[in-house]
Amino acid sequence: MSLAFGRPTRAIPGPSIIPDRVLKAMHREAPNIYEGELVAVTDAVRSGLKAVARTTHDVAMYIGNGHAAWEAALANTVAPGDKVLVIVTGRFGLGWAEMAKALGADVELMDFGTDCAADPARLEARLREDRAHEITSVLTVQTDTASSANNDIAALGAAIRAAGHPALYQVDCIASLACERFEMDAWGVDVMVAACQKGLMTPPGLGFTYSNPRAMEKRKTLERVSSYFDWMPRLNPSLYYQNFCGTAPTHHLYGLHEALKMLLEEEGLEQVWARHRIMAETVWAAAEVWSETGQLRLNVADRAARSVAVTTLRTGPDQGGQLRRWAEDEAGLTLGIGLGLDGATTPPGDSLFRIGHMGHLNPPMLMGTLGTIDAGLKALGIAHGGGALRAASDVIGKALETPAKTDAA
Ligand SMILES: *Cc1c(COP(=O)(O)O)cnc(C)c1O
Repeated sequence: MSLAFGRPTRAIPGPSIIPDRVLKAMHREAPNIYEGELVAVTDAVRSGLKAVARTTHDVAMYIGNGHAAWEAALANTVAPGDKVLVIVTGRFGLGWAEMAKALGADVELMDFGTDCAADPARLEARLREDRAHEITSVLTVQTDTASSANNDIAALGAAIRAAGHPALYQVDCIASLACERFEMDAWGVDVMVAACQKGLMTPPGLGFTYSNPRAMEKRKTLERVSSYFDWMPRLNPSLYYQNFCGTAPTHHLYGLHEALKMLLEEEGLEQVWARHRIMAETVWAAAEVWSETGQLRLNVADRAARSVAVTTLRTGPDQGGQLRRWAEDEAGLTLGIGLGLDGATTPPGDSLFRIGHMGHLNPPMLMGTLGTIDAGLKALGIAHGGGALRAASDVIGKALETPAKTDAA
C-alpha cells in the first residue's frame, strides 16, 4: 500500500523547485546567438545577478555547476604554491579545499566542526599570526548545505580587516544566494561564487563568479590561467561568444532571466530574504517539537547559526535513511540525503536527513512536507514529540497576521 500519487514533491537542497514560468520561458526555439534578443537578455541577466548579490562589481558566467564556479574562482586567484586558508563548517568547505589542493594550492583548514558556524575571533587571531602575509585567500561557504550551518559573512569579513590582513576574501553562496541576506560590497567580499539551481530557481547548468578590483589585481599577477575559466575575456568581451568562451547557454539564460524578474522586480530582494526566514522558522518550529521527547534533533542547535535554505536533522542510526525511503516510496516526497558528515566524530549519512526549503515554495508545499515527515515518524515508530504541525502553523499564522474584519465594527 502506497499513497504516492498526485504531484511528487521534492524538498531537497538543490536543485530546488522550478517555477512553471521559468520552465515556460525556456520552452522556445533556438535563438539567434549573434545579435538581437539574446544579447539583451544576457545583459539583463548580468545586471540582475549583480543586484541579487548587492554588488556593483562584475560577474562572470559559466556553463557549469557549482563545482565549475569553485574552480573558476580558484583558477583566477590562486597560483600553485599559494597559501589558502579554508574555513570548514561541514562538507562543502572541504570540497572547495580539495579542489584548491588539486590546483596546487598550499591549503590550511580551519575546522569548526559539523554543527556550528565559524568563529570570527579565531579567524582574526590566525590572520594576526600570519605577519608575513603568506595566506593569499580566505575561503568560506555562507551556508554549508551538508550541516545546514550558516556563517556570518559580514563578521568574518570584519575579522579579516581587523587583523589588517590583505588576503582575498572568497565566499561560496551557492546554497544561500537569494535565500539569505548577502551584501558583497558592504561586507568586503572580494570573490563570490554561486550557481543557478538553488535560490535562483533555474535548472542546474550555470555557475557564476563575482570579482571586485582587488580580485582582478590578483588575477593579473598569475602567470598562467586556464583559458576557459579566465575572467579577462569573459568580463571584457569584444564579441558576444566571449561571455561564455563559446556557445551561450541560450535556454538557461531565458529561464534565469524570468527567475530574476520574479525575485527582483516582482517580489523584491528584502521580501525574498524575509520569506525564506519565515519558511525556515516554520521548519525549525516543527523540528524543535519533534526533538522534545524523541530521537530526532536539529543538527545546528543555535538558531543564529542556522541556514534559512536547508535544515539538517539527526536521527538514531539508520533512521534518517529509513525515513527518506518511506517518504519517497509511500508518500511521493523526496527528502535530502544525509551528506558527508560521516566520520569518526560525526554521524554517518543514514543517521541524518535534510529538508530543503529554498526557492519557489509556499506554505501548503512546506506544511505538506512537514506533515509527511510527521506521518513517517509515526509509521516507522521513530520516537518524536507530538504537535509539530501546530507549532509550524503557528509560525506562519503569526508571520502573516491580519485580523479578519467583523461586521460588529
Ligand atoms: C550545491 C552546492 C555546491 C555544489 O554545487 P554543484 O552545482 O552541485 O556543483 C557547492 N557549495 C554549496 C554551498 C552548495 O550548496
